[in-house]
Amino acid sequence: RIVYVNGAYHPEAEAKVSVFDRGFLFADAVYEVTAVIGGRLLDFPGHCARLRRSLAELDLPSPATDDEILAIHRELVARNALDLGHVYLTVTRGEADRDFAYPKAGTAPSLVMFTQARASIETPEAERGLRIASVPDLRWGRRDIKTVQLLYPSMAKMQAKRQGKDDAWFVENGEVTEGTSNNAYIVTREGTIRTRALGHDILHGITRAALMRVAGELDLRVEEKPFTVAEAQGAREAFITSAGAFVTPVVEIDGAAIGDGRPGPIARRLRAAYLETAIARAI
Ligand code: PLP
Repeated sequence: RIVYVNGAYHPEAEAKVSVFDRGFLFADAVYEVTAVIGGRLLDFPGHCARLRRSLAELDLPSPATDDEILAIHRELVARNALDLGHVYLTVTRGEADRDFAYPKAGTAPSLVMFTQARASIETPEAERGLRIASVPDLRWGRRDIKTVQLLYPSMAKMQAKRQGKDDAWFVENGEVTEGTSNNAYIVTREGTIRTRALGHDILHGITRAALMRVAGELDLRVEEKPFTVAEAQGAREAFITSAGAFVTPVVEIDGAAIGDGRPGPIARRLRAAYLETAIARAI
């Protein structure tokens, strides 16, 4: 695999950053994951815009223009002959002597990008649906910034796996915030899609924004309102969205089947419709 590091393309074994990189020492870094289907990028402008917002929120310098970032995405997809999967991008604050305060004059940010091939369309998860375990949301208060501070989500996912489940949903003040790496939704008994409103407590998913548009086109009602685990268990359907999973049905939470315990028709329709429009607009 060919990996991009600060202006150059390297075989992955030779791709290196400094041990003094603040991304490594402080998780002082943000990231994006952009899906690739047929060698083309899904929702790229959205991912680029969110990257800009994450950088600005953390006072991180920009390592490249949007056009340069797009060109690197395309070059990596080409060099790795990537058909299906994603491009991972991270911007770290770069190298500095280890200190909580970073130099006033700033640091030179590091830009690292690589590809991962994934059979993302016809997955067993999309076919049979996800089983979810709920866990307390112990993450920090700025989950709207896409930082690489991913230890707790990683621990939550492992905890779910140890229980024989696929993933975890975070719960705060009795209500679901989101999944470890995805936004969470239910379809109520009345047939309304419900998902938590945007704020500091969840990531503003690019796939979530696309899902809202697709739901509108399908004349499905969406309300931005939180829900409890009990409401999810009593819902008609549930699902998640992310750049990696697109729209994937959820069939169980904390051992209770949702609906008839199989992927629901609305989630399946939304997955197909999302993929169709995202592929049509891919660049
Ligand atoms: N929420 C969290 C915590 C995530 O990590 C992610 C994606 O990584 C998402 C939601 C979904 O965001 P997107 O649709 O932009 O991939």
